[in-house]
Amino acid sequence: MTKFEALGLQKSLLDAITDMGFETPSEVQEKAIPILLESETDLVALAQTGTGKTAAFGFPLIQKIDSNSRTTQGLILSPTRELCLQITKEMQAYSKYERNINVVAIYGGASITDQARQIKRGAQIIVATPGRMKDMISRRLVDISSIDYCILDEADEMLNMGFMEDIKDILSGTPDEKSTWLFSATMPREVATIAKKFMHSPQEITVGAKNSGASTVQHEYYVVGGRDRYPALKRLADTNPDIFAVIFCRTKRDTQKVAENLIEDGYNAGALHGDLSQNQRDLVMNSFRKRQIQMLVATDVAARGIDVDDITHVINYQLPDEIETYTHRSGRTGRAGKSGISMVLVTRGEQRKIRAIENKINQKFELKKVPSGMEICGIQLHHLANKIKDTETNSDVDPYLPEINEILEGIDREELIKKLISAEFTRFSNYYSKSKDLNSSDSGRDRERSDGRRGGEIPTSGAVRYFINVGEKDGYDWMSLKDFIRDTVGLGQEDVFKVDVKESFSFFNTESESTQQILEKFTEFKVDGRFVNVEVSKNPGGGGNRRSGGSGGGFRGKRSGGRRDDDRGGRGRRDGGGESKGRRRDRSESSSPNSGKRRSTKRKGDFF
Ligand code: ADP
Ligand code: MG
Repeated sequence: MTKFEALGLQKSLLDAITDMGFETPSEVQEKAIPILLESETDLVALAQTGTGKTAAFGFPLIQKIDSNSRTTQGLILSPTRELCLQITKEMQAYSKYERNINVVAIYGGASITDQARQIKRGAQIIVATPGRMKDMISRRLVDISSIDYCILDEADEMLNMGFMEDIKDILSGTPDEKSTWLFSATMPREVATIAKKFMHSPQEITVGAKNSGASTVQHEYYVVGGRDRYPALKRLADTNPDIFAVIFCRTKRDTQKVAENLIEDGYNAGALHGDLSQNQRDLVMNSFRKRQIQMLVATDVAARGIDVDDITHVINYQLPDEIETYTHRSGRTGRAGKSGISMVLVTRGEQRKIRAIENKINQKFELKKVPSGMEICGIQLHHLANKIKDTETNSDVDPYLPEINEILEGIDREELIKKLISAEFTRFSNYYSKSKDLNSSDSGRDRERSDGRRGGEIPTSGAVRYFINVGEKDGYDWMSLKDFIRDTVGLGQEDVFKVDVKESFSFFNTESESTQQILEKFTEFKVDGRFVNVEVSKNPGGGGNRRSGGSGGGFRGKRSGGRRDDDRGGRGRRDGGGESKGRRRDRSESSSPNSGKRRSTKRKGDFF
C-alpha cells in the first residue's frame, strides 16, 4: 500500500498520482486529506507556499464530487488568473481517470460568454477569481446555490488584494450546510476574521511554524547605496551564471525599468506587471517557464502564486512594505523540498527592517558582501571551464576543422587553454577592472563608531569618497589633483582613485584606512594662502556620514555624466519609444560583459 493509498484515496486518483510522479504525500496532504475524506467539516490549513496545498484540497474534493450529477458542487476561489489556471490544470490532471468530472476556470480578462458556455455544459467544480465570480453571479451565469464545498485558496493573498467584500458577497449566496476549507500560507487578522465569520468550528492544521517562511530558503541581505541597487543586482546575477530568478520591485515603473535595463545589458530578462496586457503577461510567463527568461522582474501582485519550480533565487530589489509580502516572495523559491536563496538589497537605513522580518519569520538573515569585480571574474571563468568540459561536440563543425587546425597549429594545449580563457577573462576584467566596491561600508550590525574630528562618522571599511574644495579653476585636472593629494598626504601610487574634477570642487576616493590620515593632513591646510578643505563626502556605496546631506551631498545633484545611477532615469522602450538611443548615458557599469552575448538567445519583441 502506498502512502497515498493509506490516506484513503480511491484508485482513479492513485493512478493519476502515479502519472504525476508524486511518491509521498507532503505534510499538509498527509494531515488534511484524511480529515476531509472522513468527515464533513470546515477546515483551516496553514502551510507555506510550495507545500502542495492544491492537492491537499484537490484530491479529497474530486473524490467527494458526485460525477453523475452535473450540478456545480465545488467552488474554489483563488486570488489571480494565473493561479486559477494553474489550479484548474492540476485538478484536471488529478481527475484524468474520472470520466465525467468537469473543472472550469473563471477569471477576468477573458471572454465571459465563453466561460458561461463552459459552465452551461456542466461544471461540477469551478475555479474562480472573486471579481469575475461575483460578476457572473450577478448576471446569473453561474449557480452556486447548492454547492457542498467551498475552498478559499491562498486566502491571505485574496484578502491582501482587497477581495474581502467580494468573498463575503459570494459566500452569502451559498448554502449554510456546505463545508468550507480555507488554505493559507499565513494567518493575518483578516483571515482569522473570515474563518470566524463564515466557518463552523473548523478543524485546524498547521504545517511548520505559523507565519514562517519555507525552511528550505536561505535568507541573505546586502547593504548597498540606494543608487547602487542596479549594479549590485547585476553582480549578483553574474555571480550566479545559472540563475533562474524572480526579482521583486515595489512599483510597476521600477519593474519595467529594471527589466529593460537588464535586457539592454544582455541578460535574459522579462517584466511582469499589471500594465502589460494579459497576452504580454502570458508570453512572459511562458518564456520564463521555458527558461528563455532567466530573470523575471515582477511586482508582487503580478507574481502572486507563480508556480514555477526550481527557481534558484528570489531577489528583493526593494523590500516590500508588509512583512507578509516578504514571506510570499521568498516562498517562490525553495519549493517542493528544493533549496533556494532569498536575497535582499537594502540601504543602511533599511537594515532594521531585516531585524523585523527575522523576528516574524523566525529565521536569521546572513549579511553578505556584493562580490567584487575580480571575484566575479573568477566565478565566471570557473563556470566557463566547466561549460567547455560539459559541451557536447557538434559534428557540424567538422568541415571547418582542417582550416581552424591550420590557424591554431603549433599552439600547445596549455597555451591554447590560456588563450581561450583569456579571451573570456579580458571581457570580464575590462568590464569590472574599474568597478567599485558596492557594499555600503559601516553595514555591520555591530558596527564600530569612530568619531571623526569633524564630528561625522567615518566609514571604517571599504572605499571612502571625499569632497575637496579645489577644481578646474584652480588649475587641476584629475591627474594633477591625484598627484597633489598623494604627495601632500604621502600616499602610494594607487591609493587615490576615482578622481573627479569639477569647476570649483572635486571628488576622490581612497580606502578607508587612509581616511584618518587625509582628514588630519587637510586640517587647516593652506595652499597659496587659501584653505584647502577636505570632507568625507559620500562613500561610493551611498552611505557615508551625516554630512552627506550637507555640503558634500549637496553637490551630488550637480554632477553630470559618469554617474552610476543605473537604476535611475527612464530609458524608453527600444521598440517603441525611440527615447533610449539619444539618452544613453556614460555609465561605468552600464553595458555589461554579457552585452551582445546572451542577448542573441532572445528577441526583445517577444516580451514587450
Ligand atoms: P502550494 O499551493 O502549497 O504553494 P502547490 O500545490 O502549488 O503548493 O504545489 C507545489 C509543487 O509541488 C507543485 O509543482 C506540485 O505539483 C508539487 N507537489 C505537490 N504535492 C506533491 C507531492 N506529494 N510530491 C511531489 N510533488 C508534489
Ligand atoms: Mg497554492
